[in-house]
Amino acid sequence: MTGRPTENRRWDVETDLVVIGAGAAGMTAALVGALEGLNVILCEKSGMVGGTTATSAGTVWIPGSRQSEAAGVPDSIEAAKTYLAAILGEDADDVRLAAYLATGPAVLDYLQQNTSVAFMPPPVHPDYHAQPGAALGGRALGVLPFDERKLGEDFARLRPPRREFMVLGGMMIGKTDIPSLLHPFRSWVNFSNAVRLLARQALDRIHHPRGTRLIMGNALVARLLYSLKQRAVEIRYQTQLSELIEDDGRIVGAVFTTNDGDITIHARRGIVLASGGIGWSSELRRRLFPDGTQLHSLSPDSNTGDGILAGERAHGEIAQDIRSPALWMPSSVMPQEDGHLSVFPHIMLDRAKPGLIAVNRSGVRFVNEANSYHDFVEGMLRSHQTAPSIPSFLICDRSFIRDYGLGLVHPGTRDLSRFIKSGYLFQGETIAMLAQAIGVDGDALAGTIERHNQFAETGIDEEFGRGSSELNRFNGDINHKPNPCMRRIGPGSYFAVAVWPSDLASSAGLRTDANGRVLTSGRQPIPGLHAAGADSASIFRGTYPGPGTMIGPAMVFAWRAAMDIAGKSNELGPT
Ligand SMILES: Cc1cc2nc3c(=O)[nH]c(=O)nc-3n(C[C@H](O)[C@H](O)[C@H](O)COP(=O)(O)OP(=O)(O)OC[C@H]3O[C@@H](n4cnc5c(N)ncnc54)[C@H](O)[C@@H]3O)c2cc1C
Repeated sequence: MTGRPTENRRWDVETDLVVIGAGAAGMTAALVGALEGLNVILCEKSGMVGGTTATSAGTVWIPGSRQSEAAGVPDSIEAAKTYLAAILGEDADDVRLAAYLATGPAVLDYLQQNTSVAFMPPPVHPDYHAQPGAALGGRALGVLPFDERKLGEDFARLRPPRREFMVLGGMMIGKTDIPSLLHPFRSWVNFSNAVRLLARQALDRIHHPRGTRLIMGNALVARLLYSLKQRAVEIRYQTQLSELIEDDGRIVGAVFTTNDGDITIHARRGIVLASGGIGWSSELRRRLFPDGTQLHSLSPDSNTGDGILAGERAHGEIAQDIRSPALWMPSSVMPQEDGHLSVFPHIMLDRAKPGLIAVNRSGVRFVNEANSYHDFVEGMLRSHQTAPSIPSFLICDRSFIRDYGLGLVHPGTRDLSRFIKSGYLFQGETIAMLAQAIGVDGDALAGTIERHNQFAETGIDEEFGRGSSELNRFNGDINHKPNPCMRRIGPGSYFAVAVWPSDLASSAGLRTDANGRVLTSGRQPIPGLHAAGADSASIFRGTYPGPGTMIGPAMVFAWRAAMDIAGKSNELGPT
């Protein structure tokens, strides 16, 4: 950070608002800034917009929206407050949280009225904890699909989804597409959906590098990009924040590394840091993450903690009063023949389905495997304090793989040899053989499976309550009775994959106020400096209340920051 007076400095570029990072937070801040009359430059380090957002499910958790009311799944802010109080206790009494709840619905409306960004709730998308005030649906909203062809040449500027989540050379599939594709002949609806999806993909492949029917996080980023283009907002690619520039206590601009050398940009009104959080920053991972969690991140390579570290050098504080520095997913890992390392997050396709358990190295279960991915890994980290649990193993039998798949192995896959040869999938004709293959105690594993099988008969998991919550059952198999999350495992063959903690987002970040202003350790705002998205500390303090609790706040606080910078604080509601 340099302190030469602004008037004596020769700037390469000048503008009102500089936004750093083109994910959900940065794109929203840039868009709102432009809509509110500011000259905006959006600086993106990589050659593509989207960041982690483009590879996400694109869900936003915004209680009490008009969209939910209109879709017939109404939700209320009061119920959400009850729910958050149950999860956060006295931490629920927080000015940022209050601002979030109060502004969220207005932000959805603002975007829907002024841009191409639009959300609708699916009828059912449960909160992650069975607590008073939890919603079954209406609180989590999904972005509407987008036709990529509208973007023309900018298609190439959109970060693709994770390779592991696409099929048939680049086709995106959502949860609701899966039954049609797996069982096209089960009903007329399934058949026509499958034909429609496959025909569209076949046509797309003639003219496009991947499928053009965008859903989830890719649709969200495409909608933001489309809207930014319509407002003619300048996006500078390969423009990487390296240092903030301070003058007399105010952040007035920044130095960027570009392919043509360093440039300085003067931000007359303000800067918003939105570079995606801790990501791959080895320094921040070492400082903030617990042992055993530092190996795998689900962030793109370009997220390396730049915004948080630059903010800290500018005297911003990294908030540490949180329950977890990151939100986690259990991921299995497979090196591909072309050198790509597939990291597959086990989000909801297999863990809750009947006929699967997770065990640690002692061969015992440690968590309700059907709980949220974050809670699964939290269970893994707790277990690791007393028995080696990183990695842990997901265990199932052949019929499970046939019906539901396991990680990278799609349902119905007949030839498993590629997965077994690569060391991704472990197989044993007996429990003892599988136990030996994965290095766990055979007797303990046999006992664990036997106990699980008894619970599967009664439908009651006496150890961890598998199948006892709405979330468990939602991700289970509704056709399986009495418990949609439990059925007998075995007789052989038995299979296992190893899963590691991987961060899907950081929750530790710069401390900010209700308008996204970065605060010092003395809780004073740093003039000229805002942060949003994963660069700012989680308002949920490292807990994971429900689907969309990262992108929801990322967009809402990006909106609040841009409005604040545009001088529209009177439209912000409570602070
Ligand atoms: C598989 C998966 C599914 C998920 N699903 C959901 C979901 O449905 N709902 C939800 O709420 N959360 C979800 N998350 C988490 C969520 O995606 C992220 O928390 C969120 O997208 C972060 O948004 P962001 O704008 O802060 O950062 P990002 O989207 O990561 O964007 C940051 C951008 O900043 C750029 N950048 C980095 N450094 C610099 C620099 N020095 N200069 C300029 N630019 C820079 C990066 O290249 C990147 O483009 C999911 C995560 C994963 C991995």
